[in-house]
Amino acid sequence: MNELRQLYQEVIIDHNRSPRNFYVMKDCTSYAKGHNPLCGDQLELYLKVVNDVIEEVSFVGKGCAISTASASLMTESLKGHTIQEAENIFHNFHHFLVSKDQESHPNLGKLTVLVGVKTFPSRIKCATLAWHTLEAALHTSSEVASTE
Ligand code: ZN
Repeated sequence: MNELRQLYQEVIIDHNRSPRNFYVMKDCTSYAKGHNPLCGDQLELYLKVVNDVIEEVSFVGKGCAISTASASLMTESLKGHTIQEAENIFHNFHHFLVSKDQESHPNLGKLTVLVGVKTFPSRIKCATLAWHTLEAALHTSSEVASTE
């Protein structure tokens, strides 16, 4: 288990150091800002949705390692999926973080590297900030997401 934890840690460090899809998207179709006041994490999320499919997703922002790595991993896991699939992934990911059982969720792929935050409930908001921002971007009534 320790080796696995270490591997997870390395993935998080890598995604924090060089976040994937980290840029301002000029021709996005959806946009939202996210803020986690508890930790000070801030991010802006850009989506290009064509015929209900997320063709491109990117973000910029400033935050702790967990929030940045989680946003980076999220962008990788969303590309090519439909809105409905994205909602399902969020649902499963959220359940994975808050549920008591230690089993990893088979459909979450790389997102399971964030299993470590389960031990630190205050960091769950860091890990889910990007996802809450995604919700705000998809349901555009509000363009500002807050974990509070
Ligand atoms: Zn944070």
